[in-house]
Amino acid sequence: MTPSPALSVLRSTFGYDRFRGHQEEAINHVVGGGDALVLMPTGGGKSLCFQIPALVRDGTGIVVSPLIALMQNQVDRLKELGVRAAFLNSSLKPREAARVENDLLDGRLDLLYVAPERLNMPQTLELLKRCKLSLFAVDEAHCISQWGHDFRKDYLELSRLSDEFPEIPRIALTATADERTREEIVSRLKLRNGRVFVSSFNRPNIQYRVTSKIQAREQLLAFIEDEHPDDAGIVYCLTRNSVDQVSAWLAAKGKRAIPYHAGLSSDVRARHLDMFLREDGVIVVATIAFGMGIDKPDVRFVAHLDLPKNIEAYYQETGRAGRDGEPATAWMTYGIQDAIMLRQMAGGGTGTEAFKRIEFQKIQAMLGFCEVTDCRRQTLLRYFGETLPEPCGNCDSCLTPVETFDATVPAQKALSCVYRTGQRFGVAHLIDVLLARETDKTKKFGHDQVSTWGVGQDLEERVWRSVFRQLIARGVLRVDDHGSMSLQESARPLLRGEESLHLRRDAFDEPPKRSRKKQRRTTTERKGAVALDSGESRLFKALQGQRAALAKAQNLPSYCVFTNATLAEMAKLRPRTLADLRNVSGVGDTKLAKYGDAFLRIIASA
Ligand code: ADP
Ligand code: ZN
Repeated sequence: MTPSPALSVLRSTFGYDRFRGHQEEAINHVVGGGDALVLMPTGGGKSLCFQIPALVRDGTGIVVSPLIALMQNQVDRLKELGVRAAFLNSSLKPREAARVENDLLDGRLDLLYVAPERLNMPQTLELLKRCKLSLFAVDEAHCISQWGHDFRKDYLELSRLSDEFPEIPRIALTATADERTREEIVSRLKLRNGRVFVSSFNRPNIQYRVTSKIQAREQLLAFIEDEHPDDAGIVYCLTRNSVDQVSAWLAAKGKRAIPYHAGLSSDVRARHLDMFLREDGVIVVATIAFGMGIDKPDVRFVAHLDLPKNIEAYYQETGRAGRDGEPATAWMTYGIQDAIMLRQMAGGGTGTEAFKRIEFQKIQAMLGFCEVTDCRRQTLLRYFGETLPEPCGNCDSCLTPVETFDATVPAQKALSCVYRTGQRFGVAHLIDVLLARETDKTKKFGHDQVSTWGVGQDLEERVWRSVFRQLIARGVLRVDDHGSMSLQESARPLLRGEESLHLRRDAFDEPPKRSRKKQRRTTTERKGAVALDSGESRLFKALQGQRAALAKAQNLPSYCVFTNATLAEMAKLRPRTLADLRNVSGVGDTKLAKYGDAFLRIIASA
């Protein structure tokens, strides 16, 4: 049987053997002229869902993407594959834009990336009407949703596409899965028949870990040095200030760390983004302003020094790790201050009651995820409405099972301490009282006289912090704007001894030591990763050297030449001929012709 045109393009242009998940279904649907909404996690392979139909169908595919800074990179990667791609946005000089427009009119483009504000301009619409178009792809389509967290006004106007170009298929793509956003995309873009392709959100190669916060920066550095000494990664912090401090600190410790946040000039931001994309092993320390649309495939870790405010954001941010399918780590430190802050946010805000209720549930789910004692991946997927039947074997709970302890008595002590001191003090003071530590404050308020003075001396301070944190996360304690604790309804049965409570015992040693057996188990379960023996590793390093030289000569990021996954497969298979090399995943016709001999030479001399 001859392969379908879509499969031929997958093999010849992209060098991949087979489609993943729902790619094939979605692609065939759009090739046939249908509209579609494609939901896949970050790294799931959304781009092919519009790139292949654009190549198979006649005419140019128009890709609407909100991220001007990344268009150049996307276009570079396509050109490396031999695809005729270009972009139109405000960064082009008039002469360059005119050249792109001419190419478009003459039918010399397979794909054209356009910023939404550019597309909405009357002259752009006019121009497009004079061309043969294969499709419209709306990337990051959740930006059209006013409920979503990335709403963009320019996206709203895209609903005119269906009126202005009724014949041209529209495909919308996003990694944001919730039902409301989904419906809004379908209705605003007027997707005919509303065909929706939903993939599993599982990212088996990402290892999820949450660790208790003691000294966040030192813990972060230890994590990087132990597990990702030369790797590219993203570190998320909440504020610009902490971004600056953490990146300077990491740089002082010898790491290639650079800051990224909205307070930096656009020049600096562009330069830092470029460094991150093009150079190997750069760590970006950033606020959430950084990341959407970053499709660097070889980000090996995403670290959170502060808690994201909901699971959607956490999943999107961590999803930027390991797009190439190779092992990657999502690492987070989490402490009592994070729990307090999120709890405070849940109470405040100016939205409607209904809005606040949703926010509150989201924050609750985020805290619940941090404190969970069984598989984190199962918890995450359950949140997105998916069931993973077995624990994953690749998260901290699975690797080092969490110990719990009967915390009924400590919880009673903590809660009655809150009660006895009048429900208006913060955690530090409450712990002083439990540990009978005299301070100005305990003297001033006479708290050395309350019945809970010193009743907590059987436990260390950090255990108390952990108990308070978990009571806050579970909603037994409420925190107000000033950090004062008060009892919630659910404290009552605990105080009366009608209920018992088990809490997680935090591991305070970092990093958690894993047994050899467990380590071996994770290597085999790391899907997509190729394990190399020592000879293969040497060859792999040599191939990376060749890649770096070729990339540098063309001023391209190294992964534009070949990804690590492709090089690892080369090292394993040791192809001798161009025909053998062509069978390696990720080697398409254009790259074979351009780079084949150079890599075969390295393999032959190894
Ligand atoms: P997304 O846009 O969904 O985040 P991408 O389209 O960037 O994901 O794809 C992630 C990575 O997976 C890319 O490196 C891409 O080349 C690769 N990929 C996509 N589809 C396939 C496939 N069918 N076989 C092998 N690799 C694929
Ligand atoms: Zn797990």
